[in-house]
Amino acid sequence: MDNKLKVGIVGATGMVGQRFVTLLAEHPWFQVAAVAASERSAGKPYGEAVGGRWAMSGSVPPAIGKLVVQNAADVAGVSRGVDFIFCAVDMPKAETRELEERYARAETPVVSNNSAHRATPDVPMLLPEVNAEHLAALPAQKKRLGTRQGFIVVKPNCSIQSYVPALHAVREFGPEKVFVCTYQAISGAGKTFQDWPEMLDNVIPFIGGEEEKSENEPLKVWGTVRDGQIVSAAGPTITSQCIRVPVSDGHLAAVFVSFARKPSREKILELWRTYQGKPQVLALPSAPKPFLKYFEEDNRPQTRLDRDAGGGMGITVGRLREDRILDYRFVCLSHNTLRGAAGGAVLIAELLKAEGYLRAK
Ligand code: NAP
Repeated sequence: MDNKLKVGIVGATGMVGQRFVTLLAEHPWFQVAAVAASERSAGKPYGEAVGGRWAMSGSVPPAIGKLVVQNAADVAGVSRGVDFIFCAVDMPKAETRELEERYARAETPVVSNNSAHRATPDVPMLLPEVNAEHLAALPAQKKRLGTRQGFIVVKPNCSIQSYVPALHAVREFGPEKVFVCTYQAISGAGKTFQDWPEMLDNVIPFIGGEEEKSENEPLKVWGTVRDGQIVSAAGPTITSQCIRVPVSDGHLAAVFVSFARKPSREKILELWRTYQGKPQVLALPSAPKPFLKYFEEDNRPQTRLDRDAGGGMGITVGRLREDRILDYRFVCLSHNTLRGAAGGAVLIAELLKAEGYLRAK
């Protein structure tokens, strides 16, 4: 217990913050030592501040429920009690960017769930199984920030986490064109059916900003580090349609892909079956095994049956077959609030600790 790293959750009272609280309550490497939110919540015990907004199954973990919520803007005060923070605030982008940089400059590493720094060239946007090598940008970032220990890493948008892993495993064949339609759960908008009854028996063909993220973020994830900056990959060209569907949790994606060299179906299945990223090799506590699970059944993956694969951290894939226009098509699924949000960020922190970037102050 004593040698656990002390972590702060900034934005702890929100939907994503609550998910961090749940995931970290029994974590083998990290102990929640501080919770912070807006001045509206500051000064209250966490259990009281979150009150009727608690949306997780089970109750507030007692030890965390007693922690007094700090004001997120008190960077020095929060930093004093922690070795690093997870950040999940809902604030304007420029303010989030500034807040995260203030924590990093206070020598408190930031693992962010927010989009504010995703485009910053020296900030790694990590899908730990795919681009752990982007941590090589951190020395340049620390130099820019003037820090010894403080830095920022971010996780990508939840929409890309189902199809990027499946495409990554077959990248040696040069995917050139990708058409993707995502069918996204309402929890991705921070909603439940109680507070969004219009979603019952309905499909909404628009999610603001999501298609741009779905098409561009994979290229940064597949980018290379040059002179301390992450330079996005030139391809594949991705076109997307992102659709909101009446599902509580789980983003499903239908993918069509062409390759520079078309692999056989058997080869693709073998690569999916055997692909391991750094989290699997290092046996990190939140790493799913397997990372990618393929179903031969025509009616899988299904959101309700399969979103919790690997504790909500695994990616499930199915329906791989030849396509009449491109080379292949398939369907894949990931849990948007676990792999796609707080769980993905916890896995990033585990990677950072295993690689020596996070340590006790
Ligand atoms: P949320 O439920 O609205 O929670 C927002 C959190 O930010 C609360 O803790 C709130 O504190 C805090 N906050 C708001 N204004 C603040 C301020 N001025 N200073 C300090 N703290 C402030 O939002 P969420 O759904 O958890 O989303 C958090 C972030 O994650 C957003 O950037 C969102 O885009 C992103 N995200 C969400 C999801 C999802 O599934 N919901 C998925 C991926 C990414 P108070 O309680 O004190 O107001």
